[in-house]
Amino acid sequence: MSPKVSVVVPVYKSADTIAELCERISKSLDSKKVSYEIVLVNDGSPDESWALIQSLAKANSAIVGISLSKNFGQHRAILAGLTASKGEWVVVMDADLQDSPEAVAELYKTATKRGDAAVIANRVGRNDGKANSTTSKYFYKLLAKLSDIKLDGEQGNFGIYSGALIDSVIAMGDLDFFFPSAVKWSGFRHSTLDVERSTRDQGESSYNFKRRMALALRVLVVNSNQLLRFSIFLGLLVSGLAAVTAIYLIIANLVGAIQVAGWTSVMVAIFFMGGTLLVSNGVLGLYLGKVFDASKNRPRFIVADSVNLK
Ligand code: UDP
Ligand code: MG
Repeated sequence: MSPKVSVVVPVYKSADTIAELCERISKSLDSKKVSYEIVLVNDGSPDESWALIQSLAKANSAIVGISLSKNFGQHRAILAGLTASKGEWVVVMDADLQDSPEAVAELYKTATKRGDAAVIANRVGRNDGKANSTTSKYFYKLLAKLSDIKLDGEQGNFGIYSGALIDSVIAMGDLDFFFPSAVKWSGFRHSTLDVERSTRDQGESSYNFKRRMALALRVLVVNSNQLLRFSIFLGLLVSGLAAVTAIYLIIANLVGAIQVAGWTSVMVAIFFMGGTLLVSNGVLGLYLGKVFDASKNRPRFIVADSVNLK
């Protein structure tokens, strides 16, 4: 019989926390007599995570262990977990205990009571450091402007999702899978629940500035065509400016104001045009790269090993 709840957890360098995580999730759901499975997806961790997941899964048949063949990134690891999950409802959460395991039962209760397809945790008291929460706030603003994906910086992956919503998200097929935007795009009705987010007390975030920016760019390019339009706009703007400058120079030349044939104007024009062309080419290149990646038709993740996977 399929469990009521599948808890999907991507695991990367989290050997210190997953045993406690499983224990606390079990306690939370056992106390409410909700049947469950915990799907731990090892995302090519270089540490002891997989060995630990294997021993946890061998000791407890409610724990499913999946090991990807290499590091595919958090969101594809989530996708692998979703694909393996059998529950009527699916909870997605981080491995580092920042998403409170005690909230899992509460999310389940709320979702069944409200009848929404998803209840997403609203991270109150977010403790990721000021720089991170400010950058993600502005990133979500930009994403909302450039696409119809409205995400809230206070919400992440943590939440509970109906099986139907999860099926639609799996079927979307985006190579650059980003779980929150996939959930929003699926269109199912969702609501939020305030959940206290704790500080990371073990290890540190696996996202450095560079990884964060790379993820932001991928999400933007995948969810928006506006960047292409922006390059057209930029091209028109600069051509317009160049035309005005040209008229000015011609008149100046006719009235004899220009003594030496203008080296400056030529250089300005070259820089202007060169700049616009490079920007437009770059944006086109981004999308062409996506088409190229998609045309290769490679799987979004590869499962190398598993325990208790039915
Ligand atoms: N994670 C993953 N693959 C990666 C990086 C992270 O599966 O390449 C997992 C990690 O184990 C954790 C979640 O994604 O469960 C969030 O990672 P982290 O805590 O480092 O990110 P942050 O909380 O700073 O967003
Ligand atoms: Mg974290």
